[in-house]
Amino acid sequence: MTLTNCSAAELAIALQKGETSAVECATAFLDRIEATNSTVNAFLTVDREGALAAAEAVDASRAEGKPLGPLAGLPVAVKDVLCTTDQPTTCASKMLKGYQPPYDADVVERLRAAGTVILGKTNMDEFAMGGSNENSAYGLVRNPWDLERAPGGSSGGSAAAIAADMAPLAIGSDTGGSIRQPAGLCGITGLKPTYGRVSRRGLIAFSSSLDQIGPMARSAKECAMLLQAIAGHDPGDSTSLNTPVPDYSADLEKPLQGLRIGRVAAHFGEGLDPEVAEHVEQTFATYEAAGATIHEVELPHATYGVPTYYLIAPSEASSNLARYDGAHYGHRWDGTPSDEKGITEFDSPLVEMYCRSRAEGFGPEVKRRIMLGTYSLSSGYYDAYYAKALRVRRLIRQDFSKAFENVDVIGGPVSATPAFKLGEKTDDPVAMYLVDLYTVGTNLAGIGGISFPCGFTKSSLPVGFQLQGPALSEPLLLQAAHQYQQATDWHLKRTAALSS
Ligand code: GLN
Repeated sequence: MTLTNCSAAELAIALQKGETSAVECATAFLDRIEATNSTVNAFLTVDREGALAAAEAVDASRAEGKPLGPLAGLPVAVKDVLCTTDQPTTCASKMLKGYQPPYDADVVERLRAAGTVILGKTNMDEFAMGGSNENSAYGLVRNPWDLERAPGGSSGGSAAAIAADMAPLAIGSDTGGSIRQPAGLCGITGLKPTYGRVSRRGLIAFSSSLDQIGPMARSAKECAMLLQAIAGHDPGDSTSLNTPVPDYSADLEKPLQGLRIGRVAAHFGEGLDPEVAEHVEQTFATYEAAGATIHEVELPHATYGVPTYYLIAPSEASSNLARYDGAHYGHRWDGTPSDEKGITEFDSPLVEMYCRSRAEGFGPEVKRRIMLGTYSLSSGYYDAYYAKALRVRRLIRQDFSKAFENVDVIGGPVSATPAFKLGEKTDDPVAMYLVDLYTVGTNLAGIGGISFPCGFTKSSLPVGFQLQGPALSEPLLLQAAHQYQQATDWHLKRTAALSS
């Protein structure tokens, strides 16, 4: 048995039966990371020592017969947007290079309490802004299915780590699609939970009214296991929901008889790759064969999703990122004079320090977002941009509520195309923003969404299917995805590009 080829669910059984140990598991994945990370660049930090120590502790507890949870001993990769006391947390930005947080994120605390073994921190788009993982200050990530293509973003490192067998489980964050889109492009499963279901304490904020943390794995069943460990109320995050956490595995095996799935005709319009369309339609057919019914629904304001998101998210980001000024937080200019174009005259030495620190610390996409957000919040433009975006957001939210009066979930593509070539969209921010067409609505409405593989193109690239469900419908989303995965084997496919 090659441990790195096993899924988390298989590893959990092998660990419980004593067929392998947590140390053996951790070692196998750490070795795999060592062999492949120079190609994929999925990890920014690898914590061999810490991982082995955590694994030894689990093995010792097991030997003593102490009760252990289902995730005990399972390796997990954590997106570098979450604070960890024992590893740097950079958000893939030069601004936070070498930053060592004084506390663990709530999710990290929960992962440790569950006995998972944190392998390291995964690469991402800087401050989670991007859809290709090309915006990292520490180098792009390659898609394990085709190394010339992007893995998606911003949780591209987490998705690629699973696809490349460098980790069986990973944590991502999703503000406008950053769990679901890379999951789709890398052929794995990822869930964006309802806003507030998972605590964001210790998540470095991008857009606070949209950010949510969620599980990534090979299958829905494993996402359920991981969500179980990280979901729940946290008094340290005032937006976290104080409602009971259900048993996410309880309904997985229930058949889908009678499930009403919505299909949005507008999702199949211009720009949708024909191969993606074919696999998505086939998925609806598979669901019908499993006893679900398909109903046409409308989301009339969906076309405004991208512009609405790209006003709200940058506005909140411009505010959240104001703290990185070289004095309170973040990289500080070392005082070396520079004649960089555009910034040669300053009101005071303090202002010069702020400006130069931010100019050096942030990458181009983050600067673009700060400018967009500052503009849309500025007096004179606020009503025309930010306030209007909030009103459209409400309409988008109402569209979903209305649709969910007639259907239980809404199905469709995750992305309009399979993984695109590295560099293909880097010179065209609008083309990159349009990649988020199908995913941003979920965040704007604060609801749940799951993405899972539903086929492969002729050139062997994975295609993702998305199911969106009302607030707190995670049990249903997981059940519907799991039932699909019982009927199909797309989620079991492994990459050839990196096979050793
Ligand atoms: N691609 C989107 C963006 O660039 C979504 C990012 C995310 O969900 N973190 O903002």
